[in-house]
Amino acid sequence: MASSDSAEGEAVSGAQLIAESLKAQNIEYMFGVVGIPVTEIAVAAQAVGIKYVGMRNEQAACYAASAIGYLTGRPGVCLVVSGPGFLHALGGMANATINCWPLIVIGGSSDRNQETMGAFQEFPQAVRSSICGRPGSCYIDIPGDFVNLQVNKSSVKYAECCLPPPISTAECSAVSKAASILTRSKQPLLIIGKGAAYSHAENSIRKLVELCGLPFLPTPMAKGVVPDNHPNCVAAARSTALQHADVIVLFGARLNWILHFGLPPRFRQDVKVIQIDICAEELGNNVRPAAVLLGDINAVTKQALALQESLPMNYYTVFHHIRELIPKDCILVSEGANTMDIGRTMLPNYYPRQRLDAGTFGTMGVGLGFAIAAAMVAKDRTPEKRVICVEGDSAFGFSGMEVETICRYNLPILIIVVNNNGIYTGLDADSWKEIVKLGDPATCVPPVSLLPNSHYEEVMSAFGGKGYFVKTPEELQNALKASLTDKQRPALINVMIDPLSERKKQEFPWLTRSNL
Ligand code: ADP
Ligand code: MG
Repeated sequence: MASSDSAEGEAVSGAQLIAESLKAQNIEYMFGVVGIPVTEIAVAAQAVGIKYVGMRNEQAACYAASAIGYLTGRPGVCLVVSGPGFLHALGGMANATINCWPLIVIGGSSDRNQETMGAFQEFPQAVRSSICGRPGSCYIDIPGDFVNLQVNKSSVKYAECCLPPPISTAECSAVSKAASILTRSKQPLLIIGKGAAYSHAENSIRKLVELCGLPFLPTPMAKGVVPDNHPNCVAAARSTALQHADVIVLFGARLNWILHFGLPPRFRQDVKVIQIDICAEELGNNVRPAAVLLGDINAVTKQALALQESLPMNYYTVFHHIRELIPKDCILVSEGANTMDIGRTMLPNYYPRQRLDAGTFGTMGVGLGFAIAAAMVAKDRTPEKRVICVEGDSAFGFSGMEVETICRYNLPILIIVVNNNGIYTGLDADSWKEIVKLGDPATCVPPVSLLPNSHYEEVMSAFGGKGYFVKTPEELQNALKASLTDKQRPALINVMIDPLSERKKQEFPWLTRSNL
């Protein structure tokens, strides 16, 4: 049945226009309970390829549609009749609003006259308001007589799909401030919320956790952003972690009841909160933050990572890159102090008898001998397995000349020397220069220091193996890739790290009581 409007040209109904407009906004799913006047909208939605799921109550339909928004980043649509249908949907709308999830509810209302119907621009607007800034729910009211009205297609002004939400970064000075608060922290804790899940920040947050060796706690719906079985997950000690943290970084989580409002006794009175959120109104809720980072979590985390990568590497950065690139079935040999200790948490083993380290006697100097033995056995029994020997610079010194043995028998061992210019800690080249000016080095050089920037990789190249001297994450990645690809040749990567880099303080320092 065509109205006079559509006497010439192709006719299109209000319901079809609604469906096409939703389709144009990349809406994929519609949930609802049909009735007059919205049944035709559901039929038209199916006709344009939107999946329609008929539910038994508008409340469940609305919950379903809101979860689509969280899972896909594009709002799900909930289709309801006016009056009771809309009232039932309110629970779902409130839930979506409080959860910060995008949602569009379309309700059919009573007929209105034609003048008020130039309303299709409201779709992109509704999609934009549901996904931009803090995501949430939107309601569109469709006049009942509009649904079946036929108009000439050429008279319709179609709107294009709205742009995806712009991605904003935080102010640079706020990022530096947050980084310096975090660096000075003794007991930092990252709290990962569902905002982080929604912003797909999983890769960047995991990288930050690993590069900085930070413990993290997910909120219920953020579980899995960084896997629950990650060694830095402190969920099993949630209360203790919250109570003792001196700095907390909130990644898209609110200090509401789920997090005990951020207040004592569940949190320290003097806890410093670094808050990352896309919603300015949320910043400072309940606890006055020490730093606020207003922006998209994924983008802000990348800003923090960029800052971190520009600093001299620390143990955690180095081990993160090693872990990313070495084969799961490699045989790991390791010795050193911090190198071996931190390596034990950061470099996982997946098979038995594939890790050799300083052992019961805590012996330094075993590494290269162990690596040579492992390479001999691997050659005969599991030739596909690579031997990787991770050494502290001091530990390497105990048996460095065995590199000649490795080269003589052409054993494809990869040695990685994590070089901090010393035993436990060392000096950077500038401090070294200043100190040796003070007199005889034997009287003024700290006993823990070794010669800064020693080129241990040249021990390897001296005997025909491949040596790499690396200072940045990128150089480290390239050296690892090259030496792992060249399966025939022994290699040594000398990785310079921050001489003051340390592991996190121990709670029970009975073995390391020294103050040096
Ligand atoms: P949880 O229940 O996991 O603690 P909340 O719902 O309390 O999480 O907090 C989620 C927070 O994430 C909200 O404050 C919201 O503004 C924020 N958020 C949502 N999306 C983003 C995003 N892309 N970037 C930054 N913050 C976001
Ligand atoms: Mg050292």
